Amino acid sequence: MKSAVNVSAREAQIPATMRAVVFTGPSAFALQEVPTPRAGPREALVRVRASMVCASDAKILAGKFPATRFPHVPGHEFAGDVVTSADERFPAGSRVCVEVHVGCGTCERCREGMYTLCLNYGKRETGHAHVGFTIDGGLADYAAVPIAALHKLPEHVTFDQGAWTDNLGVALWAIERGRLAAGEHVVVIGPGAIGLCATQLARALGAGRVTLVGRGKRLARVRDMADEVVDAADVARLHGTADLVVEFAGTADAARDAIALARRGGRVVLGGATGAGVELSGVDLSTIVRGNLDVLGSLANPKGVSGRALELLAQGKIDVTSLVTHHFPLERFEEAWRTFTERRDGAIRVMLHPQAAA
Ligand SMILES: [Zn+2]
Ligand SMILES: [Zn+2]
Repeated sequence: MKSAVNVSAREAQIPATMRAVVFTGPSAFALQEVPTPRAGPREALVRVRASMVCASDAKILAGKFPATRFPHVPGHEFAGDVVTSADERFPAGSRVCVEVHVGCGTCERCREGMYTLCLNYGKRETGHAHVGFTIDGGLADYAAVPIAALHKLPEHVTFDQGAWTDNLGVALWAIERGRLAAGEHVVVIGPGAIGLCATQLARALGAGRVTLVGRGKRLARVRDMADEVVDAADVARLHGTADLVVEFAGTADAARDAIALARRGGRVVLGGATGAGVELSGVDLSTIVRGNLDVLGSLANPKGVSGRALELLAQGKIDVTSLVTHHFPLERFEEAWRTFTERRDGAIRVMLHPQAAA
């Protein structure tokens, strides 16, 4: 009985309403006062401490995710502490972070551990959830998060670092798809947040030389994260040299470069073009066939890979702190959004702090 009393005491402290970023319709958003969500039986209510915006949020806002219904609370890269939960593995006060794909658990893909490819995508009644995409997310004071999406934050990992859990899993999955072997020459194309996670993970996992390919101001800013940085315009000199190429730029040009950069017998992992409508032309098929290349697609972070990435974060092998170029309280969401989407001041990632004073 004692625990029931404690739970209701905690619930009494949860305000009836909270602030949330609401995508009210395509290309329209506002910071609104909305009812605080209640945690369902297989969910925890999380007080959000650190929450980032990402290019996927811009796609959602533009109406490019048919499974997202407006009005929608975005946010899928976040960490916080549990306020209420019926699951004893995550009692109130637990510091947690989130990976965003929750499968139904029973379809063929889920049974293979590929819950990122769940055959019941978008059907909440089956147990499927894509946090911040098909259900409300963490750009708010509180979020109701499926237990299956939660990870405990290791002791020395901060909320700000923990918000990278999903991203790190996405980057690590791409490198594992590419079967990185110690000492190999790795080229990463795309100096955005995920590309920079992949660059650091390749180093942490024992790559030989790591080359980062990209454009613009960002490249100068992140020079130290790779052994060399090369402007995409000068990439021809590296053609045919890489053991493993990992692409997180999302353009057809980048995919063509990725295939051209691999040595014969090498591996190419394409992870950037996750939205429909980007076509690849201008590739000589003999480059792939006579080159005996493995050209692989990589989507998201299945098979618990984010939990393993979190271990590397806890060991201090990945620096995500310097990838957060701007911090804002939740009240200044609009400014944060513009800073990110317009890449003001070379912005890589912006972070919102709902519990901070304005
Ligand atoms: Zn994201
Ligand atoms: Zn499933």
